[in-house]
Amino acid sequence: MNRSPNGLPISSPNGFGVTSALEWDASEGGSDYLRSTEGRDTDSGMGMAALPFAGFLDSLPASCDVLRPYQRQGLVEIAQAVQAGERRILRQLPTGGGKTHEIAAVTLCAYGQQLRVLILATRTRLVRQIHERLEAFGVPHGVIAAELRGMYDAFQFVQVASADTLYRRCLGDSVMPLPAAEVVIFDEGHLAAADSRMAILEQYPNALRLGFTATPARKSGKSLSMAFDRLILGPSILELIREGSLVRPRIFNVPVVSRQELKALPKTAGDYAEGAVGNLLSRPKLIGDVVENWLAIAGGKRSIVFACNKAHGAHLVEGFSRAGIAAEILTDQDDEATREEVIARLETGQTRVLVNCFLMAYGVDVPAVECIVLARPTRSLPMYLQMVGRGMRPAQDKDHFLLIDHGRVVENLGLPTSDFGWNLDDTRNVNREAEARSRAATVEKPRTCPECHHVWLVSEDGTACKLCGWAPAPSAKPVVVEAAALGELDVDTETQAPTPHSPEVIDFFREALGDAARRDPAKWRATPNKCRAAAWHAMRERFGLPEQKIPSRYWSMQPATPSAAVTGWLTHRRIKFARSRSRVA
Ligand SMILES: [Zn+2]
Repeated sequence: MNRSPNGLPISSPNGFGVTSALEWDASEGGSDYLRSTEGRDTDSGMGMAALPFAGFLDSLPASCDVLRPYQRQGLVEIAQAVQAGERRILRQLPTGGGKTHEIAAVTLCAYGQQLRVLILATRTRLVRQIHERLEAFGVPHGVIAAELRGMYDAFQFVQVASADTLYRRCLGDSVMPLPAAEVVIFDEGHLAAADSRMAILEQYPNALRLGFTATPARKSGKSLSMAFDRLILGPSILELIREGSLVRPRIFNVPVVSRQELKALPKTAGDYAEGAVGNLLSRPKLIGDVVENWLAIAGGKRSIVFACNKAHGAHLVEGFSRAGIAAEILTDQDDEATREEVIARLETGQTRVLVNCFLMAYGVDVPAVECIVLARPTRSLPMYLQMVGRGMRPAQDKDHFLLIDHGRVVENLGLPTSDFGWNLDDTRNVNREAEARSRAATVEKPRTCPECHHVWLVSEDGTACKLCGWAPAPSAKPVVVEAAALGELDVDTETQAPTPHSPEVIDFFREALGDAARRDPAKWRATPNKCRAAAWHAMRERFGLPEQKIPSRYWSMQPATPSAAVTGWLTHRRIKFARSRSRVA
């Protein structure tokens, strides 16, 4: 049978019901008479000049007013590239930058010009997201996905398809023809290079191919030049953080493997071999470290933990569960319904820790996630950024997210907010470039706080740690200080020795209560006096107060909103405690 895009029974979007009974396997022959004869067929040897899509993006419909300025700019650049004769265009936009919005806008414009559009996505969840966005933009469409059969509608000019379902149905089992299209859009363009995806794309040699991705490179770091010729870059992660579209990571570098151990690991396709790294990291001591550090740094925050493989992931879930934390695992064996349930439990907070054993293929987008744990090392820049991107979406009361790196990933590949110099150059490899940049003497290396593991750039945030107050030992160079100022400082520190009645001591105590109430509201409600005693001890340690009976007024003080300094100091104390415990264990 004819499997070319032209084999699709063409009908107007509101076509009569001749083939309304057409289902997945009903198109075996008999539909030829429905084929368009109006010369619009994609592959009928049309010359490049006569392509029907030139100019379709030149004027945006009013409903595109919802686009952000950089998204409109992206569409303008795509339009210019099309006008210049480009046919295989890749649009880059950081995770959370709103690529589904751009996809819907492009589709709306194409639909307005009566072009047929095929949108390929790699997961049912993403198919559904695009479907919902098209609905919002008012674009009629059909859906081709094994798990969304009810939305199938072959008559629509716009089709949203699961790439896997389409491959199975159209190229594998040949039970249905590929839908015709003048415009083929590939969501998650970094996955377009896989054989089955390329096989689909190659069926549309004359169509306009538009890929969208946050990380325009293959997992191996190689370029996507086999699928795309032209790259259109969006704003950087930092720009999107500044304008409030993304939230900033607060990074903790807590390596559980040594550089030597990492170096010794076998590699496959330029990354650490999963089995070997999984075995290394599954040692009970290291699993314990991950759990202890999570308790100390993220304590209770909704988190996604990235594991090496299923075995490692199962060990992590066991470790978290043993510590009394509601943890679940997602693997590629779970069906769509299970995944949705697990993600919903993470969203509500019923599940605190979601251990993810997928590689970069699965984008779990849960804006409520406040912490990403890299429990695995990787040498793949796209994979690293895809993992980190899961924490960047803004949500209510979320102005940052925690990134706990156990695999020296930040150290080796750079801060996720770096400029990675994306390109489609065949001779380059973004993974190796990122590693080289991290080693280069000319590039500022992030500083890791020796006390609390927080990572920052000295050029941005100064030499001292903003979270715990650690500061480097003063250099031997003499510092010129005016005598009067110095004298005043001395008097100050001598006469103001803190007591339980000092305002700063009381403030600290109340903020420590606030921190306890925020970290674990249930515990605060159930055992407030225990929490008060703990805050008292923390405060005594902080100010170096001698042991004494807790003054009665301390039992009735109200919690106050903790400042970053107090939270930071308490976090640092918990990490120290966790480390001392894990050394004993
Ligand atoms: Zn610190």
